Amino acid sequence: MNDRICTCGKWHTFHHLCSHVLAWCAEITQFVNDYYTVQSYRLAYDNSFRPLPDKLEWTDYTGPKVEADSSRWKLGHGR
Ligand SMILES: [Zn+2]
Repeated sequence: MNDRICTCGKWHTFHHLCSHVLAWCAEITQFVNDYYTVQSYRLAYDNSFRPLPDKLEWTDYTGPKVEADSSRWKLGHGR
């Protein structure tokens, strides 16, 4: 399977999975982390997302303000 070749030859010839490989893939799901299951995917998006209100309804920002220290700016050649 690591060489992407099945003894039926369809995988190598047609470059798509044959029924044998699909059956094998179904068996190896026991080695795949539950995080990648469809159930986990659905749980991730189970909660609804609230859209942001209109910008006019936003409250003013009262947190700290960050400013660049202009004394540390370096003028040089760009990339
Ligand atoms: Zn096959």
